[in-house]
Amino acid sequence: MTDKILMKTPLVEIDGDEMARVMWGMVKEKLLLPYIDLRTEYYDLALMKRDETNDQITIEAAEAIKKYGVGVKCATITPNAARVKEYKLKEEWKSPNGTIRAILDGTVFRKPIMVKNIKPAVRNWKRPILVGRHAYGDVYKNVEYRVDGPGKAELVFTNEQGAEVRHTLQKFKGPGIIQGIHNLDESIRSFAEACFAYALDQKVDLWFAAKDTISKTYDNHFKVLFEEIYRAKYQKRFEEAGISYFYTLIDDAVARIMSSEGGMLWALKNYDGDVMSDMLGAAFGSLAMMTSVLVSPQGYFEYESAHGTVQKHYYRYLKGEKTSSNPMAIIFAWTGALRKRGELDNIPDLETFADQLEAAAIKTIEDGIMTGDLAKLAEPPARKIATTEEFIDEVARRLEH
Ligand code: NAP
Ligand code: MG
Repeated sequence: MTDKILMKTPLVEIDGDEMARVMWGMVKEKLLLPYIDLRTEYYDLALMKRDETNDQITIEAAEAIKKYGVGVKCATITPNAARVKEYKLKEEWKSPNGTIRAILDGTVFRKPIMVKNIKPAVRNWKRPILVGRHAYGDVYKNVEYRVDGPGKAELVFTNEQGAEVRHTLQKFKGPGIIQGIHNLDESIRSFAEACFAYALDQKVDLWFAAKDTISKTYDNHFKVLFEEIYRAKYQKRFEEAGISYFYTLIDDAVARIMSSEGGMLWALKNYDGDVMSDMLGAAFGSLAMMTSVLVSPQGYFEYESAHGTVQKHYYRYLKGEKTSSNPMAIIFAWTGALRKRGELDNIPDLETFADQLEAAAIKTIEDGIMTGDLAKLAEPPARKIATTEEFIDEVARRLEH
């Protein structure tokens, strides 16, 4: 490659924190900038920047994705009490991912990167298991209350005419806790639509699971809306594509997934998706091999890695140690975003570049050169356990040939 690939529309680039941010910089410098005339609109979501702007920068980044259509995001710190102290924050700012998801009302799809020499922890998994996580509501938009003594908790809904519906939640005899959660038909529908569309796109069966036997109104409503949308819009297209949709209870789905060969898209409610995607990430090898994309019903895309900021490695990096943190999911976040940008702007070279970079990264691992997280799992054993920088250099070498 001699001439750099030109871009038309900028990518919304959302930078983050700690080791993920360090890897982000290396990937750009060594794997992207030499080949692409990279056009991005840059939003720095480093925790201090969020604090300085009272978190406005996060909202602006999400609005920019609405404007341009495609974003790529680095992992960011979600503050907790310890982080408030560590960074002397004005406030315990909300999770940026939560804020962005709420603004885009999208669905997060996760897909593991599979390589020949890393066998999944579950022997029978032959193909990737894709996870679709609903990204709105439930416990992520809850109202909680600490009950400090006896009293009555009620669930009250007042409609626009002022009529009230009232249910007793619990008559407390002593202290306890209460939580109110909600969801919206509109959001559940767009979640279902995104899942059906993505299953068709990836040509895989769609499974949806919830707990409608216990939650006979709330979870059951998810099931009803999925069924309705499937029958009205997707059944025929699924049959033509030779794929199927089925609903089952969440516990049954967990058991079936464990004994399956993989190769399906598993749609999950917000919390289930949060938990299960981390489990699948680890079972497929490493969280660092799990890619993630947020797809909104309006067709906006935000690509990211599923892992966090890799805090412990960062503290070692700050002491001058060369860490062996795995940049694969960060590389694939960029290739996902660049490929989508290429598709939307009709730049075939950009799509080809994304394919070539992914192939080079996979080849590096399959050649036995990998970071420490994968070396623990590799069969045959790794030929070389690389630092992050060495690994990226090896990928660059394979990209050039
Ligand atoms: P994490 O950053 O994902 O790291 C957890 C552990 O997983 C690491 O200590 C490391 O294990 C391993 N790991 C994760 N990614 C790796 C990589 N790329 N290469 C090698 N090993 C990797 O999760 P966390 O420590 O729970 O969270 C740290 C920060 O990230 C928190 O402040 C959290 O709020 C934030 N976070 C952000 C996002 C996001 O923005 N999408 C997601 C999750 C968490 P070893 O230490 O054993 O090597
Ligand atoms: Mg999680």
